[in-house]
Amino acid sequence: MARTAIPGRLTKRTGWWVARLVDRRDETATAGTLVLEVPDWPGHLPGQHVDLRLTAEDGYQAARSYSISAPADGDRIEVTVQRVPDGEVSPYLLDGLSVGDQIEVRGPVGGYFIWRVTDPAPVLLVGGGSGIAPLMAMIRARRAAGSRVPFRLIYSVRSERDVYFADELRRRSRDDRGLDVAYVYTRQVPEGLSGQAHRVAVADVNTHGWPAQLEPVNFVCGPTGFVEAVSDILVALGHHPRRIKTERFGPTG
Ligand SMILES: Cc1cc2nc3c(=O)[nH]c(=O)nc-3n(C[C@H](O)[C@H](O)[C@H](O)COP(=O)(O)OP(=O)(O)OC[C@H]3O[C@@H](n4cnc5c(N)ncnc54)[C@H](O)[C@@H]3O)c2cc1C
Repeated sequence: MARTAIPGRLTKRTGWWVARLVDRRDETATAGTLVLEVPDWPGHLPGQHVDLRLTAEDGYQAARSYSISAPADGDRIEVTVQRVPDGEVSPYLLDGLSVGDQIEVRGPVGGYFIWRVTDPAPVLLVGGGSGIAPLMAMIRARRAAGSRVPFRLIYSVRSERDVYFADELRRRSRDDRGLDVAYVYTRQVPEGLSGQAHRVAVADVNTHGWPAQLEPVNFVCGPTGFVEAVSDILVALGHHPRRIKTERFGPTG
């Protein structure tokens, strides 16, 4: 339905908010950020997600979950979407929705995969591909709160071209004290850097994560296989499963 769908005849029902697309930014060749204005948005915590729902003219509806990629900013929320080839909803969100169009939003959703700025524990963020989205909300919330909680990010991407928020991450790892960013390239290592392309391995988490004795909170987000592999590594390195919080970006159930 995606390519022909329009979010028409929106009705405000309990739990669904009528939002308007007010801005959009390309992140990579295959991903973009949508800025939505949701009147009376109640606010959200870093790590939470929303459900977005499209309605076609014949009444057919499709809904998918998307992490909120920026902290609460009044009535505005941001989501960052990776195009899934042949997907029903994500190509429409990136190519079919224009500034000014309406879309339904439900949320915020999720009470487990969240970081609270009041939590003093060191944080390890491990993101694969679009799994950076909720982690970015945490990095931005830390900055906005002036927090000095030590943050480390391990970001797994295919190549340099696939890094979301590339300029901002560069700037933040330079300016935000206590934030360290490390990249793992799975297909192509940028010119001038040493090492082979590989998937996140024990050595990466050992080098760029925290020792288990420090009792950090580990947030892992990305495709299901990625999340399971990284969680296994963290457990093998002695982290208590309770301190490993995961979000899987599989198909929405
Ligand atoms: C809690 C949660 C948060 C999420 N947050 C984000 C986010 O911030 N950004 C984002 O881009 N996505 C996110 N997702 C994934 C998103 O909900 C959709 O699954 C994704 O956009 C694909 O939807 P689609 O309609 O385009 O594809 P579909 O029509 O649902 O699927 C088309 C084909 O692609 C496969 N597929 C579906 N989803 C994926 C996927 N994620 N990766 C690889 N193959 C897939 C399906 O098995 C199917 O074969 C999140 C999912 C969950 C559960």
